Amino acid sequence: MLNLTGLALTPGAQRSWWLREALAAEAPQPCPPLRSDVNADVVIVGGGFTGLWTAYFLTERSPGLGVVVLEQDICGGGPSGRNGGFASGWWDELHGLVTLYGAEAAVRACRAVSDSIGSIEDFCDLHGIDAWFRRRGYMFAITAQAHERLCKGMVDLAREVGAPDEIEPLTPTEVQQTCASPTFRGGAYMRDGAQVQPGRLVRGLRRVVLDRGVTIHEGSPVTRLDGTTAVTPAGSVRARHAVLAVNAWGVGWPQLNRRLVAWSSYIVLTAPAPEKLREIGWTGGELISDFRTSLRYFRTTPDGRIAFGGGGGRARRTVDELFTRDARAVSETADGFRLMFPSFADVPIEDAWGGPIDVSPTHLPTFGRAGDANVYYAAGYTGNGVAPTHLAGQVLADLITGADTDNVRLPMVNARPPAFPPEPFRSWGAAVVRRAMIAKETAEERGRKPGFFISQLARTPRRMGFLLGPD
Ligand SMILES: Cc1cc2nc3c(=O)[nH]c(=O)nc-3n(C[C@H](O)[C@H](O)[C@H](O)COP(=O)(O)OP(=O)(O)OC[C@H]3O[C@@H](n4cnc5c(N)ncnc54)[C@H](O)[C@@H]3O)c2cc1C
Repeated sequence: MLNLTGLALTPGAQRSWWLREALAAEAPQPCPPLRSDVNADVVIVGGGFTGLWTAYFLTERSPGLGVVVLEQDICGGGPSGRNGGFASGWWDELHGLVTLYGAEAAVRACRAVSDSIGSIEDFCDLHGIDAWFRRRGYMFAITAQAHERLCKGMVDLAREVGAPDEIEPLTPTEVQQTCASPTFRGGAYMRDGAQVQPGRLVRGLRRVVLDRGVTIHEGSPVTRLDGTTAVTPAGSVRARHAVLAVNAWGVGWPQLNRRLVAWSSYIVLTAPAPEKLREIGWTGGELISDFRTSLRYFRTTPDGRIAFGGGGGRARRTVDELFTRDARAVSETADGFRLMFPSFADVPIEDAWGGPIDVSPTHLPTFGRAGDANVYYAAGYTGNGVAPTHLAGQVLADLITGADTDNVRLPMVNARPPAFPPEPFRSWGAAVVRRAMIAKETAEERGRKPGFFISQLARTPRRMGFLLGPD
């Protein structure tokens, strides 16, 4: 049973625990809503990591540029302030990258994301942002026999592309030494992984771009783009370039909607229990996940909590209340936590929150120009955006300023992935397939053979040519 001590069962009615913690620690720098018609060089829609890193790199590349960020909520109110805080590499995404772009370009993309992880740490040091950055790598834990093949494939592929040091196999004993959960069998270790407090990172980034002269209007929903003019209910920004940095809200934008499906993911957070972490040996600060498509991911905090995400959620047509107030998803997430960490049975879950994931047909994001106008976008992170948004910000700033850099030659820049089917098939299909994937993976984890119909349904995306779900 879910033990949400002191928490009304409306996760997301409040800000994420990360963001509340960050807001309590910061000096106020108000960013009132837009209330007039103004001009700018670049208008950015969305004040999460993508929008703010783009603003940051624009100020690096071209300090005099007039940049305005329009955010419907507060900066970091979306997934950038709600995520698991995994700043992780792309070596586990090699299969998709190699399939799409070939081995050489895939490795270049992975190295660029690796650089972003290091650069985020440098950025925090340079600007005095204490985002609890801790680079201790990422352990993948096998929790079902069906995942052994996936784990081996991941390790073998890193070797084949000439990057054997990036992902190494772990024996069951080595996995247990890192974190003793009765559900873990063997696994693998990716060295590219750091934990961050995402609320502190996104709010720190907001402070830095404000100090550099970027204008931010919070509480300013953009209702449409007229060319590159962003229109809000009480004013507009007429700019030479516009950036859509709206993540899963992209399902509502014609420039992005065939590229994305919105899925929810939820996180539960325990009370501090450092002694319990010591008992299971998980004191190294490693990021950990399993191999499910409905990924379960978990990390510790400096005060000895576990933040545990995933395992449930839904696919929806629009980003609505079920992305932040879904008791079923919280309950499924908590069940996953209790299953994996039975020795924490008497440790209360103190908080829970959710948010939307922008799932792309390839499980990977693309960055670039949307159509002919000077409208740019970065989207499709598919739940792995903390480090890649830093790279996206550089790419978008380079494209806008016309800089000829290695970044703009990365394979996901202006790539054309396959499109999802139009509505209503897209969201209806995604919702049905998502539940089938969860049912299949849950059966496998419990040592049962999933039903034929469920297995076939879960494989539908692969059969349609998308790099999603089981094969
Ligand atoms: C529960 C959860 C856990 C996750 N865990 C991880 C993780 O551990 N590691 C990882 O790498 N990734 C994780 N992710 C994904 C990661 O958070 C995102 O990929 C990343 O934050 C994307 O940043 P963004 O700036 O593109 O999007 P967002 O942070 O969503 O920012 C987009 C912003 O646009 C605003 N917006 C939307 N529409 C409009 C509009 N019309 N007008 C004005 N503003 C608008 C939104 O309010 C939002 O603030 C997780 C996501 C969720 C939901």
